[in-house]
Amino acid sequence: MGRLPGGSLPGGVLDHALSVEPVRIDDDGHDGDPLIRVEDVHRYYDLGETRVHALRGVSLSVERGGFVAIMGSSGSGKSTLMNVLGCLDRPSSGRYLLEGTDVSKLEKKELAIIRNRKIGFVFQGFNLLARTTALENIALPTLYTPIDKGERMRRASHALEMVGLANRAGHFPSQMSGGQQQRVAIARALVNQPSILFADEPTGNLDSRTAVEIMDIFQNLNDRGLTIVMVTHEPDVVQFAKRVIVFRDGKIRKDEPVASGPRAAEVLETLPTLDD
Ligand code: ADP
Ligand code: MG
Repeated sequence: MGRLPGGSLPGGVLDHALSVEPVRIDDDGHDGDPLIRVEDVHRYYDLGETRVHALRGVSLSVERGGFVAIMGSSGSGKSTLMNVLGCLDRPSSGRYLLEGTDVSKLEKKELAIIRNRKIGFVFQGFNLLARTTALENIALPTLYTPIDKGERMRRASHALEMVGLANRAGHFPSQMSGGQQQRVAIARALVNQPSILFADEPTGNLDSRTAVEIMDIFQNLNDRGLTIVMVTHEPDVVQFAKRVIVFRDGKIRKDEPVASGPRAAEVLETLPTLDD
């Protein structure tokens, strides 16, 4: 795979995204609010006789422009938290305010609307539709927004440019490397110009150079103002974030800034290039 477009992301998609007024579900929001505020959130899973207490009183805030890495051993509650933050799931108790709006008690339908408008999600498995081109995969989330086909395709093309894959628009997932598929998944997550990007182990299936390429994309997006929260197992990946939160047994054990780490683009200079 070739070099990514380093510090110069093409497009103006994010500029455009940032100029769009955030959509509010009600008027509770204040501009001074953090993007995310979680207050004493618990999440239980009831499994017949037993109850798993996956989140045990989690409180945290994320400011606009943050780039947060969440670490912790398997089963510590990271994915459960991400699902709550990403409005895929609701807390059993506690409050979750997203851009000042309490989303913790919304119905599934309302959560789906918030997700579609405000949230981009990237997973370890890329979850692309196999018989669908890169461009069409990216355009999928726009089907639920009231814009015409031309605008859909224009936004999808911009998103594809942002991840450095403009020349792969017509490729199917099977014709792309893992890193390229993840870049398509990132573009799909960005196409509706979300306020925040959540990524659950986004580099878990990738070789180490490709992982750094994904971090280069994340750093560039974050430079342009996109807030990012990602779960990762890899200390090598954490160094590219600005803040690290460590989870254990459903609780936050550590929350601190990352000592100014390297730019992914610089690290890439030192790594051997793989052929496409
Ligand atoms: P992590 O992502 O840190 O590995 P998870 O959030 O997936 O941790 O899981 C936290 C705890 O909750 C684990 O004990 C796990 O087995 C349990 N758990 C997660 N999802 C479910 C579910 N859908 N049903 C029941 N238990 C779950
Ligand atoms: Mg997990």
